[in-house]
Amino acid sequence: MSKELPDDEYWMQQALLLAQKAEAQGEVPVGAVVVRQGRIIGEGWNQVISLNDPSAHAEVLALRAAAKNENNYRLPGSELFVTIEPCTMCFGTLVHARIQRVVYGAKEPRAGMLDSNVQISELDIYNHKLQWQGGILEQACSDVISQFFRKKREP
Ligand SMILES: [Zn+2]
Repeated sequence: MSKELPDDEYWMQQALLLAQKAEAQGEVPVGAVVVRQGRIIGEGWNQVISLNDPSAHAEVLALRAAAKNENNYRLPGSELFVTIEPCTMCFGTLVHARIQRVVYGAKEPRAGMLDSNVQISELDIYNHKLQWQGGILEQACSDVISQFFRKKREP
């Protein structure tokens, strides 16, 4: 087993806790943390409805918080952990922030841009290459989403 695995799962667990915050607000439960040198420098959870903001995805809010904390719009050497595979907007923001590595939990079959639909980071259109990995605590991350939508469908 690779030495990194327990760490990745630990940070994903933190992202899952934030997904629960989103759920408590009636938002689609997605959570994200930005980690640098073994500590969280930014947290975010999906708040598009609460903030009336179509860009308020977990990843974007976590990046905004981290950038503010670091007093730098770029976050080199940082990793972002998110419970669900990022969309195009979030991928773009991750590139702008110069995030080193992105780790996601469950795939997003419709809008996922790292692996599910397009391997966007493989396209030669960005001047920053980021590493990525999926499938960390995949089942737990996917359960949070499917339970949310199941409950929504109940009368
Ligand atoms: Zn997004």
